[in-house]
Amino acid sequence: MSAPLRLFNSLTRELETFAPIHPGEARVYSCGPTVYNYPHIGNMRAYVFADVLGRTLSWKGYALTHVINITDVGHLTDDADAGEDKLEKAAAERAQSIWDIARHYTEAYWADVKALGIRQPAHWSIATDYIEAMIEFAKSIADQHCYELEGGLYFDVSTVADYGRLARAHTDEGEGRIEAVEGKRNAADFAIWRKTPAGETRQMEWDSPWGRGAPGWHLECSVMSGKLLGFPFDIHTGGIDHREIHHPNEIAQNQAFCHSDASGANVWMHNNFLVERSGKMSKSAGEFLRLQLLIDKGYHPLAYRLMCLQAHYRSELEFSWEGLGAALTRLKRMVMAVEALKARHEAPVEQPEGGWTYRRAHDEVNSVFVPLVARFDEAVSDDLNTAVALTVLEELLSLKKMDPGEVLTAAAAMDAVLGLGLLGLTRADLRLRPKATAIGEAEIEDALARRKAARAEKDFAASDAIRGDLAARGVEVMDGDPLGWEWRL
Ligand code: AMP
Ligand code: ZN
Repeated sequence: MSAPLRLFNSLTRELETFAPIHPGEARVYSCGPTVYNYPHIGNMRAYVFADVLGRTLSWKGYALTHVINITDVGHLTDDADAGEDKLEKAAAERAQSIWDIARHYTEAYWADVKALGIRQPAHWSIATDYIEAMIEFAKSIADQHCYELEGGLYFDVSTVADYGRLARAHTDEGEGRIEAVEGKRNAADFAIWRKTPAGETRQMEWDSPWGRGAPGWHLECSVMSGKLLGFPFDIHTGGIDHREIHHPNEIAQNQAFCHSDASGANVWMHNNFLVERSGKMSKSAGEFLRLQLLIDKGYHPLAYRLMCLQAHYRSELEFSWEGLGAALTRLKRMVMAVEALKARHEAPVEQPEGGWTYRRAHDEVNSVFVPLVARFDEAVSDDLNTAVALTVLEELLSLKKMDPGEVLTAAAAMDAVLGLGLLGLTRADLRLRPKATAIGEAEIEDALARRKAARAEKDFAASDAIRGDLAARGVEVMDGDPLGWEWRL
């Protein structure tokens, strides 16, 4: 039998057995990117996590509806209800249309999503497509829960029960860092509609009962999640920073809108941060860690996905190039094992209609593999323990004297959850050319052939000279590499 799916709920700070609100279904909302710049790889960790969650729900047999939003308005430079709109600021600095900026970075984000093997959600909800619905939502809660100030419509957090329970940091000290706005009733009150200051115009602004302006970021997520998934829905995800302000504020709005003390979602899940010591994750720091930088340096994006899967999503993960290199080597080993199996098995392994589920894998793989499939299922069902799940997949790939087609089928089933795309990858796909190298592959192969000939003639001086020449141009010759690579850049 399939192991019960246990997920850590930030709201209760406990592992809970997943119980869908609509039988057989799972409805998930993930806070999406603010598209004023390229996402960094830390941001992308949030979507790799949400993707693994979605894939696991599919594996458990639930019909998944996943929504990821695109924030193109309303996210301020400071989460604590202060500062400028991130997109307006970027547009002003670059003298560009805000809509062009939003489109450019949305597409850049989607390219990263694709490169990382993140599945397409049922909906990408774009905040500016929901302005009318946001105004309707705000109107419905304004009388009982909001008040107007010079700056716009503010939400009074004292009007809902237990505000801030998700953060558990609802102390005066914690609120001290929230910039005081003249007239706010409580330090934690936040703007749900922001009026354009008199005499200014924004590139993005709309008429509302509270003046011309733009919605607050928190309002957007409440509206899009409720509209597309219906309150209450099953799971809401985001990075751990959202546990402190953004999600408590969403919850307060949901309570107001639903006339209920419930939060609007049964389970709130948060991925921990990817950290990097030298500060390269910060988007303001010139060269920052975005996926394209990894690719430019010769690392396949799926090596980064694997790096994420090696850690538990609730643990902080430290980025290093060595760690990424190790993940790439591990990925290569898996791909080589799959290639060796494919070489012995001509027919392609079909993806079953509707995708792999535990039940189908249990029923359809050779009975020899059922215990491995069950262990894999236990791992992912244990709050998405992908680190253990990976070792089970590797164990499968290392089995000797098995029918290759049957091993490949079981591997395909496991990879449906991990999303590494192992069956479609080749060793050659993983060899990316670093952008900075000036030497072509043909030239390298030619030099290696000459070196081989020299060695065959025992002309070691010539062989060493060729090796030295290649090294000077950034190519390392690798004699006897366990993975069979002859060179690397
Ligand atoms: P943003 O585009 O700033 O709204 O962030 C998009 C997502 O990335 C949010 O869910 C954040 O919580 C998350 N996030 C931001 N920084 C990191 C990081 N260093 N590691 C993991 N997740 C992050
Ligand atoms: Zn959100």
